[in-house]
Amino acid sequence: MPFSHLTHLSCTKCGKTYDPEALLNVCREPGCAGSLFAEYDVPRLSREDIASRSRTIWRWHELMPARRPEDIITLGEGGTPLLHARRLGERLSMPDVWVKEEAGNPTGSFKARGLGAAVTMAKALGARAIALPTAGNAGGAAAAYAAKAGLPCHVFMPKDTPKVFRIECEAYGAQVTLVDGLIDDCGRIVAQRKEAEGWFDVSTLKEPYRVEGKKTMGYELAEQFGWTLPDVIVYPTGGGTGLIGMWKAFDEMERLGWIGAKRPRMISVQAEGCAPIPKAFAEGKDVSVRFENAHTYASGLRVPKAYADYLVLKILRASKGEAVTISDDEMRRGVNELASSEGLYAAPEGGAAWEAVKKLLAAQKVQRTERVVVFDTGTGYKYID
Ligand SMILES: *Cc1c(COP(=O)(O)O)cnc(C)c1O
Repeated sequence: MPFSHLTHLSCTKCGKTYDPEALLNVCREPGCAGSLFAEYDVPRLSREDIASRSRTIWRWHELMPARRPEDIITLGEGGTPLLHARRLGERLSMPDVWVKEEAGNPTGSFKARGLGAAVTMAKALGARAIALPTAGNAGGAAAAYAAKAGLPCHVFMPKDTPKVFRIECEAYGAQVTLVDGLIDDCGRIVAQRKEAEGWFDVSTLKEPYRVEGKKTMGYELAEQFGWTLPDVIVYPTGGGTGLIGMWKAFDEMERLGWIGAKRPRMISVQAEGCAPIPKAFAEGKDVSVRFENAHTYASGLRVPKAYADYLVLKILRASKGEAVTISDDEMRRGVNELASSEGLYAAPEGGAAWEAVKKLLAAQKVQRTERVVVFDTGTGYKYID
């Protein structure tokens, strides 16, 4: 049996297919530019077959893109704990609230999953250097995996991003450029310069494999819950990579015969100061509009327009989910509650996800007895200034 069952890439907008041996960004059909998904033929693979494998994102290698084990560039990402939030849940009389705790990943956030996969593939397919825009954690993760791969890495971040994000990128040997603007302004600079500079752009959902790394959260959740899925998943959303990836993983697992057709309601959480997805969701739109003057201290949520917003909105609706906004003050409270009641010093994004549970309960969008998973997506240690 091949190590990977990857067969082709397909455009999530127009369906055009591509050879996965080429180093590609987005769909090349005129006027399309849709995000590309990795597609696999479904192996005959049982849940027991994987039980004894090591707990990284490559545990699921048949449904991951690397062709050969020796191509994998790993720092041990993935395999994170799923913790019962008993004390926080009790406060709301919700006995079945869980935290998927992503802070323990290499470089302190779940960005390690996506960039571990993306850098592995960039290197294997012959990239000479990578570049990306970042609101914070993606830059550190890209820089770390690029260091491990021996690839030059060029990171573009807003100049008001907390200093620690720049310090870690530089420690990993990346070239950091501070930009007077937001993450999409940074993305434009990468797009303008990449051809002349020979950089491969690893912006999320403008290359096919970050979403593959992040989809492993969906596999892990199912396995950790004994091959069932929760009723509700609460996900702090920037580019939406993990939400899109998990939804993809659920379909793959159903095709593998590992789970049934039931799906969680997917809840997208954004900051009051940067809420393009909740706005588009409330207005019934299929795509979002760039959120002007975007501001929030949760840097991972400071994404004024996600590239694959159309996929996020489609999933929220298909799952009968919701989109919720949380203020920065509420996030601070959420961070304090996760720390003082559950022993988790969360990133503000994780605090936002916990606060969203309270809002959803108050609005009767979740029931007290439902099984709810909150994503704590990164460590709080990077946000202390
Ligand atoms: C990037 C990031 C997010 C948003 O992740 P997406 O999958 O791109 O939506 C949330 N929290 C933290 C800590 C992040 O770094």
